[in-house]
Amino acid sequence: MEMSEPKKTLTLTFTLDEVEMGIRNKWLEEHSKKCALYGPATAGWFGSPYHYVFTPWGCGTGKEIKCNCGESQSLNDPNEEL
Ligand SMILES: [Zn+2]
Repeated sequence: MEMSEPKKTLTLTFTLDEVEMGIRNKWLEEHSKKCALYGPATAGWFGSPYHYVFTPWGCGTGKEIKCNCGESQSLNDPNEEL
């Protein structure tokens, strides 16, 4: 019996720097107060009500956090040229 080849993988790493983390934390704090998807009713849910969108551009990466309710926030440092 032949050993099967290990599955090929592609590893993509996206990072948030300190400023972007700050934007994320601030948005999450604000958003969790007004969003219906947050709160005791969903506290035990598996997974998260929000997700990240990383869009590779020619000269940088678009970073965004999106909530399942439809709201989103750009995480890119507004002071940084992309
Ligand atoms: Zn929401």
